[in-house]
Amino acid sequence: MILQNWWYTTLLDASVRHQPPLRKRLKCDVAVIGGGMAGLHAALQLSRMGKKVILLERNICGGSSTGKSAGFLTPDSELELNQLVRRYGVEGARSVWGMPVQGVELIKQTIKDFKIECDFRKQDSLFVGIGNSGAEDVASEAKSRKKLGFASTTYNRDKLKKVNTGLGYEAGIRYDDTYSINPMLYAQGLKKALLNSGVQVFESTEVVRIEDGAAITHLGSVVAENFIVCIDKMKPEFSSVAKQTYHAQTFLSISEPLDDKDISEIFPDGEVQCWDSRLVYSYYRLTPDKRLLLGGGSALTTFSPHDINSPTIINKVIADFKQRFPKLQHVAFVQYWPGRIDTTKDIMPIIDWFDAPNVQYVLGCVGLPWASFCGKYAAERLYEPRMCQKYCMFLGAHRSFFVPSWLQGIVGKMISFSLNNAYAKYFEKDMPQMSQIMHTHKGGLPSISLNRKSEKT
Ligand SMILES: Cc1cc2nc3c(=O)[nH]c(=O)nc-3n(C[C@H](O)[C@H](O)[C@H](O)COP(=O)(O)OP(=O)(O)OC[C@H]3O[C@@H](n4cnc5c(N)ncnc54)[C@H](O)[C@@H]3O)c2cc1C
Repeated sequence: MILQNWWYTTLLDASVRHQPPLRKRLKCDVAVIGGGMAGLHAALQLSRMGKKVILLERNICGGSSTGKSAGFLTPDSELELNQLVRRYGVEGARSVWGMPVQGVELIKQTIKDFKIECDFRKQDSLFVGIGNSGAEDVASEAKSRKKLGFASTTYNRDKLKKVNTGLGYEAGIRYDDTYSINPMLYAQGLKKALLNSGVQVFESTEVVRIEDGAAITHLGSVVAENFIVCIDKMKPEFSSVAKQTYHAQTFLSISEPLDDKDISEIFPDGEVQCWDSRLVYSYYRLTPDKRLLLGGGSALTTFSPHDINSPTIINKVIADFKQRFPKLQHVAFVQYWPGRIDTTKDIMPIIDWFDAPNVQYVLGCVGLPWASFCGKYAAERLYEPRMCQKYCMFLGAHRSFFVPSWLQGIVGKMISFSLNNAYAKYFEKDMPQMSQIMHTHKGGLPSISLNRKSEKT
């Protein structure tokens, strides 16, 4: 098993060309910095609004989290529906869940609009519960889906065996309107579509700072009226906003192609994309060429400050998978790669203005659908501030966190983010201001005025 991102390998066949670095001073309406899912969708939306856009990407478009991801397209990310209900109440959860739902739809529509070849496939999602606590998680997810009127099918242990034979799975919940893609081909396909729409895209172009109305790169600069910054693993030298994000590490591996018998050992009734109920969960799906894409991690390395390139953790994930599916012991995994997903302290993205009134940041989007929604949202609200009304109470930088910034300065990012993330996932209840607002407006969401001039760090 070699250390290499499988999706890079698939690019070798693709008809997309690398865009050379920026080597001069250019001007535009909006400079988008970062060409992951969020930045690409911000640029797409701006170009649809008739703006002159320049996209600056340090690597290649999709070259960081987006192009390392497993390509599951589901509104489910690190925060499950029942956790959103606990945190925001039923109507708040509906609004929040609606954002990645729109993200899934946006990606689907973009593939259709630009005929992007990225192995887009419909794949139902199946969340499986391990042990009794996992069965309880499934039950509470089912209860929340029912409360919100979302369709799903639940399985007890015996019924689950007919759709997924994994040992130790006690229950499962399945729903549709979810898909999978090759995320690198999607990013590069969308880049091509942007170029065709007149957006200027520069790859291998790192923005080192934004200063006096210009994004400064190593070889050039872009003067713009507005900036949308969608970068990951931000260094403190770039902006003090860097303290608002950290990352969670996960690993992926891909197998040799499975034969039909192997596939039916896992999925006797057809393919589904799966993840389990553990805190550091495993996730898997089939690719169109019948390879098994399997991911997971370990509690010890989730908050590690750097990529861990050794295969130790992914080998454990593979061994665990093979224990659950003993008839697949012979399956060989050919490539693996680590990836760190940027996240905020409460696992909800932060989209707000920092540093200057014309510099908007899109931070910590956990999940491809979240990132596509947030990129589009950041672009829209630049020119249509009313767009802000429904979502800025969830995404604005006004939020307070369990471990506040001053304490983070003492305990460090790793401890602060692990405690904050756990609190957001398992304990955080209706934010007081949220329930008050919901109550006052009988479930309707009022506007919150934005102070674009405020310095919030
Ligand atoms: C292993 C793994 C598996 C995952 N699986 C899934 C999955 O199955 N489904 C799902 O929905 N999500 C998944 N995710 C999460 C998902 O990939 C991310 O949440 C999403 O891609 C975030 O998109 P983004 O645009 O915000 O960030 P990124 O994709 O990280 O984009 C940021 C971009 O900014 C660029 N950049 C950084 N600094 C600079 C700079 N100074 N100047 C210019 N450019 C810069 C980077 O090169 C990068 O391209 C996974 C992530 C990983 C790592």
